[in-house]
Amino acid sequence: MASSRTGTTEWFNVSRRVLREALATGQTQCIYCHTPLNFENRRAPNGAQVDHVIPHSKGGSDHPSNLIVCCRTCNISKGNRAAPKKKTVLASKPLKTSRKW
Ligand SMILES: [Zn+2]
Repeated sequence: MASSRTGTTEWFNVSRRVLREALATGQTQCIYCHTPLNFENRRAPNGAQVDHVIPHSKGGSDHPSNLIVCCRTCNISKGNRAAPKKKTVLASKPLKTSRKW
């Protein structure tokens, strides 16, 4: 059953583009666990997958600026949680701090 939001042609095109850019920029490892990514077999445990930095359910967009490439294992285990603060992909974008301490 392909009722998933990520089953759309639009998502397919965006994710393909993100994967291609990752390859073009020389990303060969998972952004989280640094496993060498498998770009050929994306269903392998280390298969390259496109992940939302800010989950869609939390308002994250499908724009490439919100997308990163990680391995399938991390993508699955991460689920809907926000990305661990590790990589500098977000550096150009200020974090939303709506909370008042
Ligand atoms: Zn990983």
